[in-house]
Amino acid sequence: MTRNMKRIVVLGAAESGAGAAVLAKVKGFDVFVSDMSVIKDKYKKQLDEHGIAWEEGHHTEELILNADEVVKSPGIPDTAPMVVKIREKGIHVISEIEFAGRYTNAKMICITGSNGKTTTTSLIYYILKEAGYNVGLAGNIGRSLALQVAEEHFDYYVIELSSFQLDNMYDFRADIAVLMNITPDHLDRYDYKMQDYVDSKMRITRNQTEDDAFIFWNDDPIVKRELEKYDLKAKLYPFSEFHETDAIAYIEDREYVIEKPTPFNMEQEELALTGKHNLYNSLAAGITANIAGVSNEMIRKGLSSFAGVEHRLERAGRVRGVDFVNDSKATNVDACWYALESMKQPTVLILGGKDKGNDYSHIFDLVREKCIGLVFLGVDNSKLHAAFDGFGIPIADVKSMKDCVDECFKMAKPGSCVLLSPCCASFDLFKNMEDRGDQFKECVRNL
Ligand code: ADP
Repeated sequence: MTRNMKRIVVLGAAESGAGAAVLAKVKGFDVFVSDMSVIKDKYKKQLDEHGIAWEEGHHTEELILNADEVVKSPGIPDTAPMVVKIREKGIHVISEIEFAGRYTNAKMICITGSNGKTTTTSLIYYILKEAGYNVGLAGNIGRSLALQVAEEHFDYYVIELSSFQLDNMYDFRADIAVLMNITPDHLDRYDYKMQDYVDSKMRITRNQTEDDAFIFWNDDPIVKRELEKYDLKAKLYPFSEFHETDAIAYIEDREYVIEKPTPFNMEQEELALTGKHNLYNSLAAGITANIAGVSNEMIRKGLSSFAGVEHRLERAGRVRGVDFVNDSKATNVDACWYALESMKQPTVLILGGKDKGNDYSHIFDLVREKCIGLVFLGVDNSKLHAAFDGFGIPIADVKSMKDCVDECFKMAKPGSCVLLSPCCASFDLFKNMEDRGDQFKECVRNL
């Protein structure tokens, strides 16, 4: 180790942490990785291959508090004792994206919001890739940005950013920033302070200049209110479902229209993704591609041929006239609202899991209008009972996906739909939301 070599400590060794460690090593830092949990074999191998020192199951303070800078995985809360100690020592804590951003000149397209991030990010990536761009997909999906910066040479990155990643970003700048919406989510991580969560999301505009673009949903009351507080330099591209507003992209007479920078239009009917929420996602993606210089022909092609993303209103099969839809990714109430809103059939709705401070009243009207049964899938369903018991709709409690799908199938009638859109995180009964969605699909196949 040379004298001037700076020490980077990475906390948490999953996709982003392992990637940050590899990039730090490639850039010549003295690197140490520490994870309180067991590190997956895949990441141990990656660290070993690069000769990076690591520990798991505990944090050794002496090896951490001598860092010049700490890269923290987004999953670790600020209240974690080790993070508190690091801050007390005055050590700068950054996110993997902030770190990786220092080592690339690629154009950064960044997407955040409470809902629609993965769908919009995937759709933008798909359009750019199909149009022949040299583009990488990073952030919460795909491989970490840091690893790609270490190993690839992309001209563009399409990056999905959670509020936790944005929290630890300081000098990073998005060439194109997309803010889908802001609705309550993850309030448990923000001390139940909504404004803190809102402030995190707004950080996506940080450092933007007049050469950059900020795309946002014009009808989101929180975003609109926040914009008044900021003196944004970026060019603004508001989108809306309606033409009445000052939006530059909207739907008019069933035409999907983008006014600028390059005028574009197509039939709304040709959009591959359906549902009101996906209209917003398609508008945001179309504007982004337009700003990135994709031809109208390729934007049209991309928007009309995108296959969708797994676990997001994904068709999971039809059994004796009953449709099954996997929307396991709906981990908050707003996501479920949009899923229910898009349902055209009488619906048996599966709710439950780890509640993040949910207010279910937001979906009361849609539940009354569309639901013929409710199945609560969780360890503790008391809050759901308190919210929905008075509705006069049949309710069942279950603790496994098999029982859940069986109960739903009993409640459903031919022509109806069973919708897994649980409003909650999955960690009480499942490994993660993918595991919950996969088990749902498996149980439907076995009916
Ligand atoms: P995220 O990555 O932000 O969680 P996803 O694209 O994975 O978003 O979608 C999560 C869920 O949110 C979906 O299951 C869908 O029901 C809902 N959803 C998708 N797009 C939007 C949107 N623009 N507005 C509100 N809800 C949405």
